[in-house]
Amino acid sequence: MTDPTDEAHRRRLPLPRHPDPNPGAFRAIPSVSRLVADADLRAATGLTVEALTVAVQSVLDSERAAIAAGATPTSVDVRTAVMTALADLERPRLIPLINATGVIIHTNLGRSPVSADAARAMAEAAGGYVALEIEPRSNERGGRMREIADLMRLLTGAEATVVVNNCAAAVLLVLTAAAAGRRVVVSRGEAVEIGGGFRVPDVLRQSGATLVEVGTTNRTYARDYAEATDDQTAAYLKIHPSNFQITGFTHAATVAELVTIARPRGVPVFEDVGSGALLDTTKYGLAHEPTLRDSLIAGATLVMASGDKLVGGPQAGIIAGNRGWVERVAGHPLARAVRADKTCLAGLAATLRHYARGEAESCIPVWRMISASADELRTRVSRLHDALRGCGVQTEVVPTAATVGGGSLPGQMLSSWGLVLGVENRDDDVDRLAHQLRLGHPGVYGRIESGRLLLDVRTVLPEDDDRLVRVISGAVSAA
Ligand SMILES: *Cc1c(COP(=O)(O)O)cnc(C)c1O
Repeated sequence: MTDPTDEAHRRRLPLPRHPDPNPGAFRAIPSVSRLVADADLRAATGLTVEALTVAVQSVLDSERAAIAAGATPTSVDVRTAVMTALADLERPRLIPLINATGVIIHTNLGRSPVSADAARAMAEAAGGYVALEIEPRSNERGGRMREIADLMRLLTGAEATVVVNNCAAAVLLVLTAAAAGRRVVVSRGEAVEIGGGFRVPDVLRQSGATLVEVGTTNRTYARDYAEATDDQTAAYLKIHPSNFQITGFTHAATVAELVTIARPRGVPVFEDVGSGALLDTTKYGLAHEPTLRDSLIAGATLVMASGDKLVGGPQAGIIAGNRGWVERVAGHPLARAVRADKTCLAGLAATLRHYARGEAESCIPVWRMISASADELRTRVSRLHDALRGCGVQTEVVPTAATVGGGSLPGQMLSSWGLVLGVENRDDDVDRLAHQLRLGHPGVYGRIESGRLLLDVRTVLPEDDDRLVRVISGAVSAA
């Protein structure tokens, strides 16, 4: 009797090349039905028959492709290959790891970790029903932005706030709602690419607005905006060029200057501040990063920022400012397509509450990392060094330079301390050790500098130090 899945599978077989490099080899491949019926395999994987069938088919497909390319079938144990492929599937990929790269807001590692309170709020909201659109006192339908808007008013003076999926969505939504079919004036020096496919001219085109570039790459004045304004002008847009610096002979019009020329002309001023700092970065020896509050005080109509950069919350796009404009944006049909979910709102509210209580520096991971003193880091690194020596692992304590990352504060360094893992500096040793660390429990990600593997402690929270020692000593003995 033929198994229908097997039959279907056979029809999809790649035809062997001519001349067949390995005649008869295909016959050595076990059938899908035999593998799926294997009780041990079923028990070991814990998958349903349907899921196991698909998984087995895809392993057998690769096996056939390998044979067609000349491999001998005995070189691969199909059962082991199935188990290996499924083991990866069984292990959740998005579990916490230790970031020892020295880049605080690391896009490839999920940007900003949220505070313990925010993580708890998100998990609780996810696992239950919440009063998302109901006012508990009156039992009337209420806005889902109430809590965040109240907190944002305390922190930035914003009359109203709406939260969407991310900052890219915030910019797209604001431009679509405010300027579709009309013109938006942008400084030539700010018509930039932020990274990950976010290019200001493209976003503007997508919104249906026309970009009017003014000034030059290095210098733009408020009068350039004034001269470009006509009855088709829908808005002035300022974008914080967050991931690069132009230095030297430069000038950009400030929000306050733009507001002075925009008001009499009835033009709104929108600013995309990107990282959305709510604390003053100069306090930590960093350059000034525009804050949401500064922008609103300077008179911006709406300000937009990411939730998961310097705000230190979950992925979100914050749009705050003038009530009428927020209502107009929130009421646009596109707002529904980019709205934030209950877990995001719960996490963002918990994060904003830290700022309102003045505890951001001690509770929000990115600010704990930014505000840690070099002395404090040095003490921790020495302790790690000693603990590792106790486990027989030689390391070297070195001064390093960490960065904020995430497209904020380009070129700004925070002096830091790190450990160089003491392998004989052959490239393959370093790569093997880095590989072992990534596969640890938790995984540890460092950076390779001058051919040596460096672990920067500025981005490791102190409560992870013991686990770090454990993973390093395990990885060194395995490498
Ligand atoms: C990061 C950034 C964005 C994009 O933010 P997302 O939240 O990743 O969508 C937009 N504008 C600026 C200035 C940025 O720095």
